[in-house]
Amino acid sequence: METIDVDYGRLRRYDTTKPPLKQRKFFTAVLRALCSIALTGQEYRIEKINMEGITPPYILLSNHMYFVDFELNSIATWPHSVNNIATIDGYYRRPILMEWLGCLCKRKFTTDMTLLRSVKKVLREYGDILCMYPEARYSPVGTTAILPDSLGKLVKAQEVPVVVLLHHGNYLHSPFWNYRKPRKVPLYSTMTQVLTAQEVREKSAQEIGEIIRKVMEYDEYRWQEEQGLHITEPFRAEGFHKVLYQCPHCLMESRMEGKGTILRCAACGREWEMDELGRLHAKEGETEFSHIPDWFEWERSQVRQQLEAGTYHFEDEVDVWSLPHAWRFQHLGKAKLTHDMEQGFVVEGTYNGKLYHIHRPPLGMYGVHIEYDYCYLRPEDCIDISTSNDSLYCYPVKQNVVTKLSFATEELYKMKMAERKRRRNAERPSYTGDKRP
Ligand SMILES: [Zn+2]
Repeated sequence: METIDVDYGRLRRYDTTKPPLKQRKFFTAVLRALCSIALTGQEYRIEKINMEGITPPYILLSNHMYFVDFELNSIATWPHSVNNIATIDGYYRRPILMEWLGCLCKRKFTTDMTLLRSVKKVLREYGDILCMYPEARYSPVGTTAILPDSLGKLVKAQEVPVVVLLHHGNYLHSPFWNYRKPRKVPLYSTMTQVLTAQEVREKSAQEIGEIIRKVMEYDEYRWQEEQGLHITEPFRAEGFHKVLYQCPHCLMESRMEGKGTILRCAACGREWEMDELGRLHAKEGETEFSHIPDWFEWERSQVRQQLEAGTYHFEDEVDVWSLPHAWRFQHLGKAKLTHDMEQGFVVEGTYNGKLYHIHRPPLGMYGVHIEYDYCYLRPEDCIDISTSNDSLYCYPVKQNVVTKLSFATEELYKMKMAERKRRRNAERPSYTGDKRP
């Protein structure tokens, strides 16, 4: 199935292949000052581990829970300049500023061949810090999101040290599903050199990938419990149904409601209360999942079962906005979004009387970018289907479906990868057979 890009006429698309600029010291200082101001009144601590004597260039990997991660990273790396990999919507209304800050532009969950060249420029030519958020989005439930397999290869090719900045508390402070109502939570980050340049040279890309995966593991609800951190805000479960969208009692999807401290299934009426330590308790009978990430992973397993049984299919009408350039969103209007096991994502619509057809096959996307309350457009759920030169932000008519789409993308990719591996192994010629006629 061929992709037919949206025809914008004379409108020029943003060139994501532009090489990054070197960040000037003046900007580094201004950023540092602004980040300190933004964090005024917020309790935070940054602990540095195994960081003695390390100087740029190095690769900085950070987990991603909310914008405050960026502010803490700027403080932790001071006085050194940092070039961040940012996505196109981060450039919205401010592409020139982002360029001056030395950012590397990327569209989410697309393969970008020029990125490696830009990364090399930052590390080798500028000798600065390259910062990336390899989860590529805010964590939906305070646990590590899926990391790309290519990360080990990218690091291996650079032969510089790897530092991991792991933040705690940021998700609990402003959860992705209700970030507009922050809670009182202290923030704690560790900045650790996890691989020296020598170790990067000696280890294989796969070993490097595994080490990074291990050190980037986090679970904010476990951390909350270990710290005995009480979150007393009476709205602590508000919006939680965006993530916990399926009822473990009656199995109904998209009928959950999170209000106050209560999560409720509108289909069967079952209720769970979220306590001050972030645990769930069923109002009646046995609690299915007390630890929130367990519920989340159970939902993933439900989607996986549908995929394995071949019953998974999604289609809906969507309202589409796109971002070919960074200055403004284009309203493309109504379109049809399909996600299935054969074709992956397909968005079909017309713009200015001309058909467009965006196709992203299952093996082309290991994950997908979803939003619950997209700050740049409408404060509702949306899903971003990007290609190398455009990003389509699709608002489905069906409610509370985007988390499932995200699971389906990840699980479908894993299944197709395993299938491909099996097929390749089967096709490999056997040398053990008897060659005599
Ligand atoms: Zn139910």
